Amino acid sequence: MTQRLRDELVATARQMSALGLTPGMSGNASVRFGDGVYVTPSGMPYSELVADDIVRLEPDGSARPGQRTPTTEWRLHKDILAARQDIHAIVHTHSLFCTTISTLRRPIPAIHYMVVLAGSDEIPCAEYATFGSVELAQSAIAALRGGDACLLANHGMIALGTTLARALRPAAEVETLAAQYWHAAQIGSPHVLDAGELQKVRARFAEYGQQKPRTRRSW
Ligand SMILES: [Zn+2]
Repeated sequence: MTQRLRDELVATARQMSALGLTPGMSGNASVRFGDGVYVTPSGMPYSELVADDIVRLEPDGSARPGQRTPTTEWRLHKDILAARQDIHAIVHTHSLFCTTISTLRRPIPAIHYMVVLAGSDEIPCAEYATFGSVELAQSAIAALRGGDACLLANHGMIALGTTLARALRPAAEVETLAAQYWHAAQIGSPHVLDAGELQKVRARFAEYGQQKPRTRRSW
């Protein structure tokens, strides 16, 4: 079980890189195991990552001696996983367009119906706090409000899922949404879909039985 989770984490990190979501050596990912967490290590190119490089964090955030140094943003992962028992995996990126919009400290509105795959009517932006801090984790938890993705002001984005694959999906979708928003904003003010239309979209996805979005939270 634990070997499978380590392998999945390595595969997810490589996919994040292959999708262009991790400029430089930015970005990290985690998955819950029991009451602990597996996280990617700090400062290693994903192309060189192997299962033994994955760091196991205990419930108090400590790592056993002999392991790699965990990502500097391990607290973001640990605290969100503790607060959100409904999800088990997290992908965090500094992907270009999400990070660009995050510097404006504003949400990404529903300019495309695929926004529902993030479990909300827009992609909120968490208040700024220093990377790796308790405050950043709290800020992200507050912004997510039960949804599956948010921007982190002047930093990047975070996406949640019940599995690593299901966390990677909104991470990629939200980056596409951010790119569409950025491009549209160059030539005008994009129209935003209203809550009624987004509800219809959720019903349509549920009807197809594929790409089923998570239930919309009341916010
Ligand atoms: Zn970061």
